[in-house]
Amino acid sequence: MTLVLVQKLERASRFYIGEDGWRPLSELDLDSLIREISQERELIRKIIKGEVGAGEVKELLRTALVIVESPTKARTIASFFGRPSKRRFGRYVVYEVSTGGYQLQVVATLGHVFDLTTSIYNFDHLEDLYGIVVDPERKIYLPVFTTIKKCLGCNRQFTDYPVVEKNGEKIVLKQCPYCRSTTVLDKIEIVVLLRKLAEEVDEVLIATDPDTEGEKIAWDVAMVLMPYARSIKRIEFHEITRRAFEEALKNPREISINLVRAQLVRRIEDRWIGFALSSKLWKQFNMGYLSAGRVQTPVLGWIISRYRESTRSIRPVFTLELSNSYRVPVENIPLDGKKPREVCKELEGSEVRVSSLRVSERELQPPPPFATDTLLREANRVLGFSADYAMKLAQALFELGLITYHRTDSTRVSDAGLAVARAYIAEKFGEEYFKPRRWGEGGAHECIRPTRPIDVDTLQTMIRQGVLQLPAPLTRDHLALYNLIFKRFIASQMQPARVEEEQLEVSGPYFKKELTRIKRVVYDGFLRVQGLRDMWAGLEPGVYRVTSCSYKRVAQIPLFTQADVIQLMKEKNIGRPSTYSEIMKKLLDKYYVIAVRRGKLVPTGLGMRVYNFLAENYGSLVSEEKTSEVLEKMDAVENGIIDYKEVLSEFYYEIQQVLRT
Ligand SMILES: [Zn+2]
Repeated sequence: MTLVLVQKLERASRFYIGEDGWRPLSELDLDSLIREISQERELIRKIIKGEVGAGEVKELLRTALVIVESPTKARTIASFFGRPSKRRFGRYVVYEVSTGGYQLQVVATLGHVFDLTTSIYNFDHLEDLYGIVVDPERKIYLPVFTTIKKCLGCNRQFTDYPVVEKNGEKIVLKQCPYCRSTTVLDKIEIVVLLRKLAEEVDEVLIATDPDTEGEKIAWDVAMVLMPYARSIKRIEFHEITRRAFEEALKNPREISINLVRAQLVRRIEDRWIGFALSSKLWKQFNMGYLSAGRVQTPVLGWIISRYRESTRSIRPVFTLELSNSYRVPVENIPLDGKKPREVCKELEGSEVRVSSLRVSERELQPPPPFATDTLLREANRVLGFSADYAMKLAQALFELGLITYHRTDSTRVSDAGLAVARAYIAEKFGEEYFKPRRWGEGGAHECIRPTRPIDVDTLQTMIRQGVLQLPAPLTRDHLALYNLIFKRFIASQMQPARVEEEQLEVSGPYFKKELTRIKRVVYDGFLRVQGLRDMWAGLEPGVYRVTSCSYKRVAQIPLFTQADVIQLMKEKNIGRPSTYSEIMKKLLDKYYVIAVRRGKLVPTGLGMRVYNFLAENYGSLVSEEKTSEVLEKMDAVENGIIDYKEVLSEFYYEIQQVLRT
């Protein structure tokens, strides 16, 4: 009995994972394509001559359903083609527009539709590991997905209704597992709507975000629409502009099975290690909400060891206010048994000499445009935004069509990007300031940049005057992040600057230190847009009196900020553009780490105990090296280099070891 079922499941899994199914592009029927194109030409000729009535045109237009994740994205796309008409289906809105060749309906899924189940209550006779049906001997790993439910009482999401046993029978209670409310929104609603809409059109075009997560949503949608749709294709664009969208319409593709597999492997691995380690933590600490994960554990380790180094490095730092009102910090004043207060007293009223050591001319190059890691770093450093918040703002800017896709490893600039920079720089500063740079090689991915040559001031004016009508309002923080992205990108396409740099020596009774200042800007280049941050710019050589002295105990090795941690994740290759902010959020939400003044990260007692327990007992699983190795394997699945089943098999046996402890 079990054997038969497992065989069936294997067939089902092959269907699900899609061993066959999709036709490669090369098999497309070219003849019919050419016929279609000449038909179109003929039609256009007739329209121009006035030989065709409106009814006939509609006949020849293809109809398509465009599916995206977010309502804002749907509205942005619909707005490219005049005022769209709306159809309402309960809480869902479908926009209708016509482009050159298509009659389009645009609809949003409101995020993910399916997620891994947590309990397979109706498959008792199969081995189930946290929502994945397994038969390790046959290397069958079948994730079981179900629709996502959202409780309208407490706003929480879940996948499975609670099950109770009554007289030996299992009964499913259709209520929220957290607050028992029975007003629950089940994503099956959107599946029903999409099926209805798919039947009405010639083609379904799935336009979810261009990464593995978007590919997985596309796959889910395709699976449930297959029997209802005549044709299902994927379209991909990295910026939501009319040009990019129309280009994508012309180049539909099949769903990439490797991307989907990589996402499935990621999800299963995350589920297994997360549930297995969490169960160990619950037992150890007797607290039912602790969590652990592959990437978050080594990251927690860095924050802890940095905290220890930092507390050991605390020393008094003196700040001398000079008679020219510059405040110079001095770190290394020998105390010789004196109290810092006494040293300060002696320094007050003393003289400090600032002398020029040398002056040299130097070229300053602009930094490359943003990728996800550098954007999050700068948003944290300059604007004080947490990684999670910055990603939310960037998502909105992307969906409104203002910036390119914000989850990217690439700093490459496309032709469209060069055109945006040229238009802005030529008009604002003159053509001679424009210096195009690609900043990276080939591929579909691109840097994070504005989609139009519009700076933040112009953007605000256009919105105020109603010239630009965005589908959702922008807050001050949205605008600040846009400004950061805009300036960094424009600077990256401008001439280098030339500056005169001066090396200064500052010396007083007990100390001597060196400072560098920009003495003169010889040619401004990209500094026109980025400005120059130099706190010593006006510090001229001379002799100054110390008007006041203060001191503070300061760590010589500073605590990490979110920006530092993200940089480290990138450097050590553990983390991806889609996970940087997620991991930071988990550590903060679980109270393993707290953010203190200026976003500095401090581990909590709980965080340290959890980390020590995991490192001592499961060190080989959650080490930095192991984590980086696992991520590389997932990349290899994404690139079709290794078999996803082999990878899952390895993970499975690892988890078995954890569970046996
Ligand atoms: Zn609830």
